[in-house]
Amino acid sequence: MTEHSAPDGAMTKTDILVAGAGSTGLAAALAFARSGAKTTLVGRIPPPLPGRTVALFEASVRFLDALGALERVKALACPVEAIRMIDDTDQLFPVPELTLRASEVDLPALGVNVSNDELVGVLLDLVRAQPEIELIEADIADYELNGAGAAAILADGRRIEADFIVAADGRNSRARAVAGIDVKEWTYPQVALTMMLRHEFPHDNMSTEWHTRSGPFTLVPLPAREDAPHRSSLVWLMSVADARRRLAKPREELEYEIEDYAKSEFGAMKVESDIGQFRMGGMQVSQHAKGRLALVGETCHVFPPIGAQGLNLSLRDVADLEDCLASVDLRNERELSRALARYDRHRHADIGFRTNGVDVLNRSLIIPYLPVDLFRGASFIAVATLGPLRRAVIREGVLPHLVLPRLMRKPAGEARAG
Ligand SMILES: Cc1cc2nc3c(=O)[nH]c(=O)nc-3n(C[C@H](O)[C@H](O)[C@H](O)COP(=O)(O)OP(=O)(O)OC[C@H]3O[C@@H](n4cnc5c(N)ncnc54)[C@H](O)[C@@H]3O)c2cc1C
Repeated sequence: MTEHSAPDGAMTKTDILVAGAGSTGLAAALAFARSGAKTTLVGRIPPPLPGRTVALFEASVRFLDALGALERVKALACPVEAIRMIDDTDQLFPVPELTLRASEVDLPALGVNVSNDELVGVLLDLVRAQPEIELIEADIADYELNGAGAAAILADGRRIEADFIVAADGRNSRARAVAGIDVKEWTYPQVALTMMLRHEFPHDNMSTEWHTRSGPFTLVPLPAREDAPHRSSLVWLMSVADARRRLAKPREELEYEIEDYAKSEFGAMKVESDIGQFRMGGMQVSQHAKGRLALVGETCHVFPPIGAQGLNLSLRDVADLEDCLASVDLRNERELSRALARYDRHRHADIGFRTNGVDVLNRSLIIPYLPVDLFRGASFIAVATLGPLRRAVIREGVLPHLVLPRLMRKPAGEARAG
């Protein structure tokens, strides 16, 4: 176990310091501790995120299994067996509905949908139970990064020296800034409203996305509760003005509007959670690692919640980094720099592909331009009608072939065995 930190000005040492205790940081601490590294996780426990759930696909499910979190997550989650996409843009040429089913790629489910807060709760319990991890619930004020070593200075003056720093401190990462890694940021004229709903008719473990001119309106299945057999979470992208207007509405009127958007397919809607609102933006970084530091999660990629990619990508960052650093002597600069060059190459490809894919789909919806509509429509028709292409799209979505780290390779159940 890592030495305990003494207060104020005192210094401790660790192998790996993970900055930020969001979902990505918690998963990173568990992954590195699992590989035997003395791990220190520094960050305050995240506050609840209203109405937010995460859909985690097969690769992430396997990773959660490897971390020993899957059974507990599954008990709180709903399986997502299919994703149905419906073009609701009223474009000139009708586009067929597209359904991507797990059974087409011989999986029981594409993934699971779980409340963000419950996922954090499960990971946090595991972190607290793991003797190789020291959790320090504090902010990091500054970093010292040089070739020979790395250190984090906590807000209360404590100093922690580490062989390596995993920065999971979110989109405004202090670690990234101190390392001097450049970012490119942009915004979309959209807000996502998030909430949990109960409804009249079953979702059949299927996620349904209506692609509208203001962005996707996506219902993702949630598990039944004693008093509510049919539940879903909603991620609804819209203009800033519409978000303001909808949030000011009496709750009942908003529920009617949601039912209307869902074409009454799920019957009457009842909002059962607080409503979250998140401004949409994008961010990419010039490099994913530098010196003795690597970026994971929203420190190195941000994009709108379309196709449920964000945390899935973050968990791939973590699993990939763990893979690249496996059997590397962290004190050997040449070995470390070779491993990080590999990590950077992988992340450029994987993150670039997802960020650009989400950007193109989002802009193609909100900018009504006939050639773009035709291209989007033709792509949907191709995927809907060509079985091999559709199966390739499903596989790439849930189990990406480009980068599939060790901890994501073994089907759930086999992971902890070997
Ligand atoms: C509406 C919406 C729906 C989404 N749905 C999905 C989905 O279905 N599937 C999916 O895969 N992804 C989804 N995402 C994306 C996913 O939620 C995010 O990618 C994920 O939450 C990011 O986690 P993170 O740990 O990287 O960042 P964060 O959650 O931002 O965590 C960063 C942590 O670092 C801490 N921190 C910051 N500064 C410091 C410091 N100086 N010292 C110490 N700690 C610090 C913060 O307190 C925070 O706890 C969605 C996103 C949105 C907005």
